[in-house]
Amino acid sequence: MSTPGSSFSQFRHSATIAIEDVRLQGALDRALSHFREARGNALSAVPDVEALRDHLKAIRQTTIANLAEHLETFERSAQANGAHVHWARTAAEASQIVVDIARAHNVKLVAKSKSMMTDEIRLNQALEAAGITPVETDLGEWIIQLSQEPPYHIIAPAVHKTKGQVIELFEHESGESLSAADIPALTAVARRMLRAKFLAADMGVSGGNLAVAETGSVVLVTNEGNGRMVTTLPRVHVAVMGIEKIAPTWDEAAVWLSLLARSATGQPLSIYTTAITGPARPGDVDGPQEVHVVLVDNGRSRLLNTPYEEVLQCLRCGACLNVCPVYREAGGHAYGSPYTGPIGAVVSPLLFGLEQYEALPHASSLCGACKDVCPVRIDLPRMLLALRQEEVAQGIIAGPEALAERAVAALMGNAGLWQLALGAARLGQRPFLHDGQLQLPVSFTGERRPPHLAAKSFRQLWAEGLEAEGLAAESLAAEGLDSQDCRGDDERTG
Ligand code: SF4
Repeated sequence: MSTPGSSFSQFRHSATIAIEDVRLQGALDRALSHFREARGNALSAVPDVEALRDHLKAIRQTTIANLAEHLETFERSAQANGAHVHWARTAAEASQIVVDIARAHNVKLVAKSKSMMTDEIRLNQALEAAGITPVETDLGEWIIQLSQEPPYHIIAPAVHKTKGQVIELFEHESGESLSAADIPALTAVARRMLRAKFLAADMGVSGGNLAVAETGSVVLVTNEGNGRMVTTLPRVHVAVMGIEKIAPTWDEAAVWLSLLARSATGQPLSIYTTAITGPARPGDVDGPQEVHVVLVDNGRSRLLNTPYEEVLQCLRCGACLNVCPVYREAGGHAYGSPYTGPIGAVVSPLLFGLEQYEALPHASSLCGACKDVCPVRIDLPRMLLALRQEEVAQGIIAGPEALAERAVAALMGNAGLWQLALGAARLGQRPFLHDGQLQLPVSFTGERRPPHLAAKSFRQLWAEGLEAEGLAAESLAAEGLDSQDCRGDDERTG
């Protein structure tokens, strides 16, 4: 089962629509700057936060390096608690497992808690095809389900919707006339409609923020309480999650949880942190009679022991989206994947196919902001560059773009040639410099004006500065400094 994908033309088309939508740009700016500020405040309140991030990185690294062992421990522990554990190699297998469980219990209505994984495997479509109605119960997910759209943001799926658009959807669903000024009435309508679904649902489906191997528990973090309703009211609960979301023990889970909500929403912890450890026991006042955990691979194990293994450390906190200049302008739908922003630009091609998501490795300015904010310090820019190289090597990028990339790679790989090319470019740009601006007869960059090369390179300025200070190159050599040390930061633009 595949997700929609993002070719160059699709990405450009969706991004252009988003960029021209002034209302959307305003809404995104407000929401994302709120998340950024909240994250900054929450992390600054943690003593030794950088050491904590390093610790989490080390935990995720060693866990992924021994993934099979931890998964087997989880399976044994979960089964000992009375849960059923299923393994799905593909998205289609995962959906089929959930549909089969639903059919075995004659389920007609499924209440769902927010889950990226069920978006990834397109579970709602599979359930509907089997005659089963899925209802999203997270407010944001429900809004996008009602508007038949994919999620816009990892933690805020309806971040792009205005109050007016939400009211229209709710009015259509409830048949009532609602007012934008009366938010309590609006939420009361949503609560009433969703409560009826919770009570009528025969099966609850959730994702899993993480699983704890030592006790076989699935941990969910939510802010609305709907996760608890989904996992306790219906008689059957199914948790669907990726195989990488595993913590060996509760000690590791505690570190994970301490950075997850802070990075995502700026909270010390989400309002609800729920651990599901098997079905209800005799004497429990609530809880499902049956618990199933579906562990989904869908391309993840293929990434083990490759340069992309690091991406499996992701917590799906969404912090990288909030700082990404491309996501902030292009919006979530341009990614054509449930995983948007910088993390989506890496995992979507890796999990669903580079050809299908050819535009995404280029949907980045490589500014490095995503790596800076990531609680696990995942080096997304490195992987974006590696994916671009693969696209050229596999012929996915063809024609003039491939030629240009090969030519630049050849030039930059040879210091002499690079200097020669820059000298030629500096001379060649002269006729097109007007009032200090580069005005080319043909535009290669749309409405953006390309920068021009400065009259002198950094290397020249450096040498002139040294001469002015009376330091000769020989004395540099005597100090053990090579002029090659300056390579890399060679050029500056005007
Ligand atoms: S890559 Fe890092 S910042 Fe982005 S969602 Fe994953 S954990 Fe969060």
